[in-house]
Amino acid sequence: MKFGGTSVSDGDCIRRVVDILEPYRIDGVELAVVVSACSGVTDQIISVAHEVVSSRDKTPIESFIHAMRTRHTKILDQVAPDYVDEVMTIIDERLGLLENILSAVYTLKELTPRSRDYIMTFGERFSAPIVSAALRQRGIPSVALDGIEAGIITTPNHGDARALPASENHIKSRIVPLLTETVPVIMGFMGATEQGIITTLGRSGSDYSAAVIGSGIDADEIWIWTDVDGVMTSDPRIIKDARVLSDVSYLEAMELSYFGAKVLHPRSVEPAMQKDILVRVKNTFNPAHPGTCILRKEHREKRVVKAISFIEKVALINITGAQMIGRPGVAKAIFSALAEREANVMMISQGSSEANISLIVDESHLEVAMDALSPLAKQGVVREITYDRDVVAVAVVGAGMAGTPGTGGRIFTALGRAGINAMMISQGSSEVNVSFVVKGSDGKRALQVLHDEFRLSEDCDE
Ligand code: ADP
Ligand code: ASP
Ligand code: MG
Repeated sequence: MKFGGTSVSDGDCIRRVVDILEPYRIDGVELAVVVSACSGVTDQIISVAHEVVSSRDKTPIESFIHAMRTRHTKILDQVAPDYVDEVMTIIDERLGLLENILSAVYTLKELTPRSRDYIMTFGERFSAPIVSAALRQRGIPSVALDGIEAGIITTPNHGDARALPASENHIKSRIVPLLTETVPVIMGFMGATEQGIITTLGRSGSDYSAAVIGSGIDADEIWIWTDVDGVMTSDPRIIKDARVLSDVSYLEAMELSYFGAKVLHPRSVEPAMQKDILVRVKNTFNPAHPGTCILRKEHREKRVVKAISFIEKVALINITGAQMIGRPGVAKAIFSALAEREANVMMISQGSSEANISLIVDESHLEVAMDALSPLAKQGVVREITYDRDVVAVAVVGAGMAGTPGTGGRIFTALGRAGINAMMISQGSSEVNVSFVVKGSDGKRALQVLHDEFRLSEDCDE
């Protein structure tokens, strides 16, 4: 069971988490718990780390450390009064370490991806011992483990590391023996390379930690506890009448999260899918709600489109040049250049005239991508490369779309009626997803138009 940032945000929340876990433990269910940092903490850590690179003195560090200590002490006092001394010793030691590293960043005026990753893991280093102590306070034996102790070995990609297959045996040998005696509380979001260098798994990476751990211990189910009732038909912060889906397939969940549905980290489904482990998304603040089941075979809703997600921080790259017509190897040159620089391409579309290839990249990869591609224009392989940052990618997702004609027509007719122009269109080969790109200012409206068109707010599960 993984509890996200809002689920461990304060003393009341952590008590609720213990309330949720206790009956399972009493029933003899073996549980491994993964926790995020308390809500907002990771953002605050990142912002102070960046601030000190250019600050004139160490005041930001001092006030930050003070604020962290105050917040976590208060929570600990509330949830584990008998363990305050023991856990404060641990937290103070970690605060000291964090202060030293931030001071080093201040002195060197340099924040490398490696040090940034290490710094970012501290939120979880504070929250996990508190949650573990809260369980003990309730009489449930528990130990806190960091992601490395739990056995997560990753690629060296700082800020976006992936778990390596070697993690599986490590996790099994370290976690499984603990489960009969205790409830391990594992710090999400972090791992380490084979050389022991600390990495993070990408923002919201605790979902992924939970999936990797769940898969490593061959869990019966992986539960993601969050602050909404489940995976919804669209982002509830934007679509007010979004509805909770009772079940979605692994592929649907992957497509939705890849296209920005923040409720799940984009890679969190894969480890579960490989082993056919059911993933359940549930609400810590409304545990009686059944939530959403993510499993191999979605029970087919009558509708073809189930959900719509969107991702804002992307850029559109247009590559044009008649030279591309009928000339093999141009696509290879483009994608090799991008791969060499590790620019991640999220969507691809090629005009049938072959005179145009459009790509969507993460906005943070735009500069690298343009750098990688510009030699191709100079060498005459392509004529022109332009980009547009002011775009939003939208994904319309539903397993029922596979083999159902007319969905694309309905999507683009509805958009056309609303006066929204699709600048690029792409359909994944899984046919679970039709995605397209619109102007930034049209993004939210496109979402609402399609949510209405496919009447997603209406329950037709039955
Ligand atoms: P946690 O801290 O538990 O990991 P997150 O904030 O990362 O929680 O993710 C939960 C949030 O994801 C919800 O509060 C909701 O606003 C947002 N969200 C975006 N798209 C969706 C969706 N399709 N279904 C459910 N929630 C979504
Ligand atoms: N604390 C990390 C973040 O804010 C990981 C997580 O919450 O899942 O990104
Ligand atoms: Mg999250």
